[in-house]
Amino acid sequence: MKNSEIVYQKALELLKERGVELVEIADLVMFLQQSYIEDLTVDSCLEHVEAVLKKREVQNAIITGIQLDILAEQKQLMQPLQDIISEDEGLYGMDEILALSIVNVYGSIGLTNFGYIDKVKPGILKKLNSHDNGQVHTFLDDIVGAIAASAASRLAHSDPTKSTITQ
Ligand code: MG
Repeated sequence: MKNSEIVYQKALELLKERGVELVEIADLVMFLQQSYIEDLTVDSCLEHVEAVLKKREVQNAIITGIQLDILAEQKQLMQPLQDIISEDEGLYGMDEILALSIVNVYGSIGLTNFGYIDKVKPGILKKLNSHDNGQVHTFLDDIVGAIAASAASRLAHSDPTKSTITQ
């Protein structure tokens, strides 16, 4: 297998292992775009999510962020980083910065949507943020939000007549 294929497969595998189904990301895209695009379906949202996941920048963010979440769960990080990440400390900010490397690929609509979805935390984002059973998703919640925001942006650009730029 080529290196790029290995990274892609690993990214998909990690999302699944960490409890994120692609259709749940598609639901977030639906949430962001359904008022702007007539007759939008989850299937079409899913296509855009899958296209976003084909980008190497996105895969790199996924494998890096999830690795840090896992190391924090296993208490393998140095202090004070261990506590900062496992407690999802609000002022840390590197989780958002890593996720921005995903959104950056898709321009300003992606950025607006990322900020919005991070505030509202619908669906899977709420679940990831619940901090249940010692699980750490400090990086993953932002990564999932960024993938959804990017897919929403891709969707908006793919059909500019039916979609608005501002939200
Ligand atoms: Mg976070």
